[in-house]
Amino acid sequence: MLPFIKALWGPKAIHRLDMAMGTVVTQLVHGKGAREAVEATAKELRRLEKLLSFHDPDSDINKINASAGLKPTSVHPDVISALNIALRVSELSLGAFDVTVGPLVRLWDFRSRHPTLPDIGDIEAGLALVDYTSIDMTAEPPMVYVSSPGQSIDLGGVAKGHVTDRMGQVLGAHGVRSACLNLGGNVLVIGVKPDGKLWEVGLQHPAGEQGKYFAVVLAADKSIVTSGVYERYFEFAGEKYHHIIDPRTGWPAESGVFSATIVGESSALADAVATAVLVMGLEQGIELVRRLGLEAVVVTADNRIYATDGLADAIHFVQGLSPCLI
Ligand code: FAD
Ligand code: MG
Repeated sequence: MLPFIKALWGPKAIHRLDMAMGTVVTQLVHGKGAREAVEATAKELRRLEKLLSFHDPDSDINKINASAGLKPTSVHPDVISALNIALRVSELSLGAFDVTVGPLVRLWDFRSRHPTLPDIGDIEAGLALVDYTSIDMTAEPPMVYVSSPGQSIDLGGVAKGHVTDRMGQVLGAHGVRSACLNLGGNVLVIGVKPDGKLWEVGLQHPAGEQGKYFAVVLAADKSIVTSGVYERYFEFAGEKYHHIIDPRTGWPAESGVFSATIVGESSALADAVATAVLVMGLEQGIELVRRLGLEAVVVTADNRIYATDGLADAIHFVQGLSPCLI
């Protein structure tokens, strides 16, 4: 989703839009040195996209996948950082989030112009390859090994968050104290707006029109990350099939959660947890959110909205909606 972001445009604000990682990346950066800072983050974005993409044959991820069952691969430390978070969430979600979901993601091929349903036998074969415990890695030297041929890592559920965190660090190193980044639904706000007020990040309703938001989260120095069933999907024989796969069934998750927004410090963690909640469903998902000290807003298939009580002062609902605070 592309949340609505209400911003105050000051005289030194730099606004930049890039297409990267299959999505729209916007940056709004305030203050002295904003131009140089934004150029540096754009460079960082390109570097990480090349490293982490499942689609780029030369990426570190594809090198690991091509060597699955054969030999360990030397990788950039960024791959280890992203995998560390992915594996932590894989473990805590008992595999609802599984970074080795690659074989199933390929089968479902949401990028195809003429998508179709995978063959049941292929789904069974793909399921047998999904197992995050088969990843072995070391940080020093940075190496990754996946133990069986055909297995593949797909960082699609966590990499945008990792890239957002890194871009935020680059802005920090340039002395930026007020900025808002949005990587296709991975939002990071740095500091407050130049007028001293909190940033306002709008959340889109999964059943609503693009750009229509149902709530606004007020935040400073926070990541606000949304996963939903409504952004990437295809329709086949009148049914919608979205891109978050339940690693237990091999089919798009049907947990009763339509969108999950996670609020926290680390964008990578929030990204992985948002994806996990889509698979785990409301109750187990909120349990995971609490365990990790995060906050969440969840919209369910029956059109109910739930928000964790830690957000009570930070969230405003529009159009008279009354959410359940849990
Ligand atoms: P999220 O919920 O954060 O993640 C969903 C994605 O996670 C799925 O698309 C899948 O990849 C993976 N996933 C599905 N189920 C699970 C599960 N149970 N556990 C763990 N992971 C799961 N898309 C393009 O169309 N063109 C591109 O050129 C392109 N390049 C990319 C480069 C990079 C570096 C990355 C990270 C992604 C790229 N993508 C590209 C993919 C696209 O942007 C993804 O749709 C996006 O990463 C998914 O993010 P999301 O916020 O929509 O959903
Ligand atoms: Mg995610």
